[in-house]
Amino acid sequence: MSGKKIQEPNPGVGCDVTSCKYNTVDCHCSANHISVQNENAVTKGETYCSTFCPRGTC
Ligand code: SF4
Repeated sequence: MSGKKIQEPNPGVGCDVTSCKYNTVDCHCSANHISVQNENAVTKGETYCSTFCPRGTC
């Protein structure tokens, strides 16, 4: 999913995925909307951000 960046990243959404185009220099998310998926997740590691977009690819 490709979305828009917002001017001021949400200070309440921290993220360490620095390879994502929405990730800011201070490790926050600047996407206007994020979606976390995997309805079958039972551990933290099984959740994932479907808004993730590798830099330079979308
Ligand atoms: S879109 Fe998802 S992976 Fe990318 S910075 Fe935001 S929370 Fe992190």
